[in-house]
Amino acid sequence: MASAKPERIQLHELSFRPFLTEEEIDERVVQLGKELAGRLEGGDPSFIVMLRGAFIFAADLIRASRMDGEISFVRTSSYKGTRTDGKVRMHLAPEAATVTGRDVVLIEDIVDSGLTMQAFLPELEALHPKSITLVTLLHKPEAQRVEVDIDLTGFVIPPKFVVGYGLDYDGRGRHLAGIWQLAEDF
Ligand code: 5GP
Repeated sequence: MASAKPERIQLHELSFRPFLTEEEIDERVVQLGKELAGRLEGGDPSFIVMLRGAFIFAADLIRASRMDGEISFVRTSSYKGTRTDGKVRMHLAPEAATVTGRDVVLIEDIVDSGLTMQAFLPELEALHPKSITLVTLLHKPEAQRVEVDIDLTGFVIPPKFVVGYGLDYDGRGRHLAGIWQLAEDF
């Protein structure tokens, strides 16, 4: 007998409900990979992945794009639990060799307030890339506090906290194949 999919999962004290399925994500990421390859045709991309949340999305997106290119990682943080404290910290900075004169593809998991990108993009621009293409899996426009120039977006979503497919809640839930949304109704 096929078992029914769970309607709720628990991470620490919080409960989450299904939001995007593995199939919906796969389908969209394949489309994004094709769009990215179309934009960068003939280019030599340098993929820069925002740790930690974007690592699974980046692995799928880069393979879906079928583009060869250097892959490197940067890490910032601003979240404590389910809220941003507004201060963006740089833990792993971009290296000039992966940016200067390169067609940079910046891969982000989610643009929420926009503060991370507002702080990070000038750091990247200071290293004089040839171009920057910002790809984000998720975008919460209703939570956005500052303008961000996003080139490709996977899904526009409401301003609720989500986990799964690389995104965590306090270190948990990154392994989930789908994306789950905070359930606030109990
Ligand atoms: P922003 O600076 O745009 O507010 O947020 C960017 C970062 O905050 C993301 O890279 C991500 O790490 C974290 N973040 C924002 N919204 C969410 C969310 O709904 N779930 C999780 N797990 N992280 C989020």
